[in-house]
Amino acid sequence: MNNLLKQDLDEIHDLMNSTLREGLNYLDQINELPTSVKVEGSQSVNLDELGMGGKKALSEFNQRFKSLMVASTGPRYWGFVTGGATPAALMGDVLATIYDQNTQTDKGHGDVSALIEFETIQLLLDLFDLPKDYLGGFVTGATMSNFSCLAVGRQWLGKQKGIDIAKEGISGQLKVLAATPHSSAIKSLAMLGMGSANLIKVGTLGGTREAIDMEDLKHKIDDLNGEPFILITSGGTVNTVDFDDFEAIAQLRKKHNFWWHIDAAFGGFAVLSPAHDFLLKGWEHADSLTIDGHKWLNVPYESAFFFIKEKHKLSQVEAFQNSNAPYLGDPLDNFNYLNFLPENSRRFKALAAWFTLKAYGKEGHKEIITRNIKQTQQLGSFVENSKHFELLAPVRLNTVCFTLRGESDAARVNKFLNELNDTGKVFMTPTVFNGRSGIRAALVNWRTTDEDVLLVWQLMQQTFEGI
Ligand SMILES: *Cc1c(COP(=O)(O)O)cnc(C)c1O
Repeated sequence: MNNLLKQDLDEIHDLMNSTLREGLNYLDQINELPTSVKVEGSQSVNLDELGMGGKKALSEFNQRFKSLMVASTGPRYWGFVTGGATPAALMGDVLATIYDQNTQTDKGHGDVSALIEFETIQLLLDLFDLPKDYLGGFVTGATMSNFSCLAVGRQWLGKQKGIDIAKEGISGQLKVLAATPHSSAIKSLAMLGMGSANLIKVGTLGGTREAIDMEDLKHKIDDLNGEPFILITSGGTVNTVDFDDFEAIAQLRKKHNFWWHIDAAFGGFAVLSPAHDFLLKGWEHADSLTIDGHKWLNVPYESAFFFIKEKHKLSQVEAFQNSNAPYLGDPLDNFNYLNFLPENSRRFKALAAWFTLKAYGKEGHKEIITRNIKQTQQLGSFVENSKHFELLAPVRLNTVCFTLRGESDAARVNKFLNELNDTGKVFMTPTVFNGRSGIRAALVNWRTTDEDVLLVWQLMQQTFEGI
């Protein structure tokens, strides 16, 4: 064994303890650490012939990078839709790294990790009040979850037309309809060879609504003359967190033959708020659902899951079968995750989710969701009643989409946003809505307190006065 490896093996307790101590120091300071830093571009580096051992690697990391780690897991990182990690989720994630299982099969000569993943999927279905007739699995993010769901939808759609697309490829055009799909769903269409430009855009309700216009959807469906298609719907759009009308779509499905996908990456958690669960009414009829773990479930990156109705198991296997590996047996008899999703070897991603669900239960996670919603409403009403800012859309859930009041050009909005972010106390991201430059603050972190909202509101006003 290499000398340095041997030395690190002998000192693994010390090495891991000092690593953990560094990580915990970061968490101890999370409220004060900057939410953004200035970094230089990358420089060219060379790999040393001889290594330095774990201890020196940690010193070099600390010296060069530690101060550049932003508080993205902290209470005021409101850019994109960035969740944190609950204490129990961290416990699970650290153990997933240490145990390093390759999560594959549910029985036979494997390990127990796939069983724990199954169990976690059951817990999640309970969390979301969804029926148990979904087969679920963990992937790296909602992008890959959308991809997985749409891959099975594509296989299903091919079958309606008598083609096995996984085998034969795409011959002829497949019809996909959507109103306000997330960019990752369009990216998935590109990755699936379905062509992102082939998406048939359905109209929205207009104004500040991004939800699908059901009348236009009916027209677009009539235009297809009975041809089967895929419908991608939104359970929470990114800009204004608007929801498509799932009850109406469930009704439509009784009359038309289509694959119904819901991207509920973060909006799915609305089901935990009694005042908002109506937004998801009817979603249990969808063929496939995408939900992110690393957003509002507050588990570390990379974690998302899909739910695909079990009745589509055959299409799912056809889409993802790891063929030419006869030693793996019949994929329908011998369950193995590698035949049901894109990756073959897989990290034990379910464990962080399992820990946080076990540790805090439905109540604990409900408290995070309802608290974040209340805080978003608070910030939204500050914005609405201010002379400096205005809302670009009403606050529907956990996101405030706003801009500077009056004639605010993109340059001025960006100047404000950059200066606000440069305070290092809060982080928000830019957007464009209805042709206007704006800013989004998305609150999905379990650490966020009401005081954080007040602090940010003060900073926003000070920053405004400075520009
Ligand atoms: C974040 C998000 C995605 C993409 O998820 P990743 O986890 O970044 O891959 C897809 N859809 C919606 C609605 C999202 O908010």
